Amino acid sequence: MTPLPTAADVAALDAADPLRHFRERFTLPEGVIYLDGNSLGALPRQTPDRVAGVLHGEWGDGLIRSWNSAGWISAPQRVGAKIARLVGAAPHEVIVADSTSVNLHKLIVAALSAQRGRHVVLSEPGNFPTDLYMAETAIGSLGAGHRLALAPRDELVAHITRDTALVMLTHVHYKTADMYDMAAITAAAHAQGALVLWDLSHSVGAVPLQLSACQADLAVGCGYKFLNGGPGAPAFLYVAARHQAALQSPLGGWMGHARPFEFVDGYEPAPGIARFLCGTPPILAVAALESGVDLHLEADMGQIAAKSRALATLFIELVEAHCHAYDVTLVGPPPGAPRGSHVSFRHPAGYAIMQALIDRGVIGDFRAPDIMRFGLTPLYLRFADVARAVEILADVLRTEAWRAPAYQVRRAVT
Ligand SMILES: *Cc1c(COP(=O)(O)O)cnc(C)c1O
Repeated sequence: MTPLPTAADVAALDAADPLRHFRERFTLPEGVIYLDGNSLGALPRQTPDRVAGVLHGEWGDGLIRSWNSAGWISAPQRVGAKIARLVGAAPHEVIVADSTSVNLHKLIVAALSAQRGRHVVLSEPGNFPTDLYMAETAIGSLGAGHRLALAPRDELVAHITRDTALVMLTHVHYKTADMYDMAAITAAAHAQGALVLWDLSHSVGAVPLQLSACQADLAVGCGYKFLNGGPGAPAFLYVAARHQAALQSPLGGWMGHARPFEFVDGYEPAPGIARFLCGTPPILAVAALESGVDLHLEADMGQIAAKSRALATLFIELVEAHCHAYDVTLVGPPPGAPRGSHVSFRHPAGYAIMQALIDRGVIGDFRAPDIMRFGLTPLYLRFADVARAVEILADVLRTEAWRAPAYQVRRAVT
């Protein structure tokens, strides 16, 4: 066994961290160790001024002229092209639109409609709820005899058949941080003539992505997690250029029309990715998202990924060393294995323990029934934060501070 990292080792990791200066670029409250950037990313310092500029200059002074003069009308494409750099896609293959849930609906229906004669959407049990719900309801809305099939990840490839229209998976699992081999699954699906829809909500900005190199067909992702776009930030979607002409959105809003300002009665989809827009883009929210994406683009994705792995390894090793006596079990990949940028532990009193942690300034979250989830965001976390968080966790467990009645009360959002 390698010896546990000492405080000096942890300090050395921070001193050698090439991303350490990014922390100053975020507003983080004093006394808080924020381990939930995978659920709601922190506020970039530049974002309030950016949004204020849009409010006062573009909306206040520019008024409706800003649709042209400030480039509002092309903001979904402009920010989409920036996100394309983070997911390894071409600029015209990504667009900002709607929520992840709505984008799932659009792409599931588009894929099923194009895959005539095939009936199955294949996913995994325990996928993020909205993904499964959107698949179920999209299938219902089509009324064309499709069905949703669920296969555990180690059997998934064997379940892809000539009847599979679409394989729909979340690349990094929201609870466990398990990560699919995107290239391998995509190739296996293509071998059976199926399309693949990747949900990148827990991947984008956290792990390197190569949609083009993996021959990915379709993808969606979230703007408010590792992209730091703000609560409820608009989402994005990706459609490989080779599919754009053949796929059609089921939500044919005017912003996805070929010529929205000709105001004709008939729907005619725009030629490229813009056909997946629906209504008018939320410009204030897009401005906040663009600020988060711009900040991300200043950092090196390889360095982000390396630090993410190092933070996860440190966190897991310290928890296993200091908390093993307290019924805390690692969920998901062991240290060193491919993973997303959060770490989860199971404990029967996970909810109460997390409330006690939050009270002590260590903010993670809880995923029913028993998972304590800790997001590790390389842009604003220090190795010392992770070490300190484990000390506080060990203290909460040792003193059983989590037994206090106040920590047992479930809030609406966990
Ligand atoms: C966070 C997340 C979503 C969120 O969808 P919304 O429409 O923004 O609520 C969807 N899918 C996955 C896998 C997620 O992690």
